[in-house]
Amino acid sequence: MNDFKIERAQRLGQLPPYLFAEIDKAKARAIERGMDIINLGIGDPDLPTPDSIIDVLCETARDPANHRYPSYVGMLEMRHECSLYMKRRFGAELDPATEVLTLIGSKEGLAHLPLAFVNPGDFVLVPDPGYPVYNASAVFAGGIPYAFSLLAENDFLPDFDRIDPQIADRAKLMFLNYPNNPTAAVATKEIFAEAIEFAKKHNIIICQDAAYCEMAYDDHKPISILEIDGGKDVSIEFHSLSKTFNMTGWRIGFAAGAEKIVSALGSVKTNIDSGAFQPIQLAGIAALQSPAKLSSDIMEIYRERRDTLIDGLQSLGWNVPRPKATFYVWVPVPPGYTSAELTATLLEEAGIVTTPGNGFGKNGEGFIRMALTVDKERLAEAVDRIKGLSLR
Ligand code: PLP
Repeated sequence: MNDFKIERAQRLGQLPPYLFAEIDKAKARAIERGMDIINLGIGDPDLPTPDSIIDVLCETARDPANHRYPSYVGMLEMRHECSLYMKRRFGAELDPATEVLTLIGSKEGLAHLPLAFVNPGDFVLVPDPGYPVYNASAVFAGGIPYAFSLLAENDFLPDFDRIDPQIADRAKLMFLNYPNNPTAAVATKEIFAEAIEFAKKHNIIICQDAAYCEMAYDDHKPISILEIDGGKDVSIEFHSLSKTFNMTGWRIGFAAGAEKIVSALGSVKTNIDSGAFQPIQLAGIAALQSPAKLSSDIMEIYRERRDTLIDGLQSLGWNVPRPKATFYVWVPVPPGYTSAELTATLLEEAGIVTTPGNGFGKNGEGFIRMALTVDKERLAEAVDRIKGLSLR
């Protein structure tokens, strides 16, 4: 037994520590020291799921027909509802039987997609800064993540001319994410059209992560890559019910796009999971039937929170843009601090948990991310606490 060795696979060694797990540890240490914590660290809504959605889960969970293995690809009723939503909201035509797949949360689909397309040594183009799952999923598939920059001077949109064409020719997948986490940037039709042209030229599948497409303010309506000419030929788009309806714990989302891309992801999933619990899909259908009605109250709360935080930080002289979408605020770090130093100072001296921008990639250095996941009174208090700090 003494010789028994537990050795992790090399692929795990290739990953940085999962960002939010590290933040949780730092937060736990601050709580141990007795600090009152204002947690703006993780994008997990503090508000409850609307009752009408919960009611459907409760009713349908009693039906034994719903206790068996669900369909791998999702109930046809659910995929049909997703296609109706995509048509109503974006004008995108999708065949529910072949071009839509139910997911156990969009993270699950994003993480599995490279297994369907990436061979060892293939490149995967990932945004920097970006949601860490893109990088990890490329590595798990044996691919090589290649970071492309999202810079403030380009409104955090990609500059395709700056991606090495030789790398692009060897890339299989490109992740995009608009509205964007962590920068809160939104896409334009022009940038999606450029992405499609670039993808066609280099034969790259676009994987557009639309997890925040219903989280927008002030009449801004985020767009889908599937509504742009040629978008459906080369793309798969990932949608999530998590943030729109405060359903992060439920684990439900869907992927939509080109049949060949969707079906390949379906083949991976068939071998790994056994579908989403039917009552959760039925509750998801109820949510998708009236997204605007259910999410407008939620977004009004986030709008007030956004304005409390932005007005407060601006009154302290911080140059923070007001986001058009998502529930993140991407804050440029005041001069004299790195992202990690500011995050540590805010936690240790003010009890405020934030996320250092460099955790999302090297271009995130110089920023921290704040999530609007506490009420506006606590956000006002966070601003007061920052005012009380003697930042150098
Ligand atoms: N994509 C982005 C950009 C996210 O920030 C998140 C969650 O924070 C997800 C996907 C995953 O969402 P889901 O709950 O649908 O797995």
